[in-house]
Amino acid sequence: MKYLLVLAVVVIAFHIWRNNRLADRAEAQRKAAPPRGKPAVPAIMVACPQCGTHLPQTEAVPGRQGHYCSDEHRRLREG
Ligand SMILES: [Zn+2]
Repeated sequence: MKYLLVLAVVVIAFHIWRNNRLADRAEAQRKAAPPRGKPAVPAIMVACPQCGTHLPQTEAVPGRQGHYCSDEHRRLREG
C-alpha cells in the first residue's frame, strides 16, 4: 500500500511536469509565430538624387532636393 502511494505521487508529479512542458511549448510556438491580421505596410521607396539608389524613406537622409541614401551624398549634391 505504501508503494502504491509513492507510485501515485510519482505519476501525479510526472503528469504535472508533462503538462507544464506542453504549455511551455505551446507558448513558445505562439510567440514564434508571426502576428496575424494586419499585413505589413510596404515601405515608401525613394531614390537618391545623387546615385539613384532606391531605399526606404524611413532609412533615407532628407535633403532639400529629395531623400539621399547617405549624408555624404546629400553633402555632395547640396554642398
Ligand atoms: Zn546616393
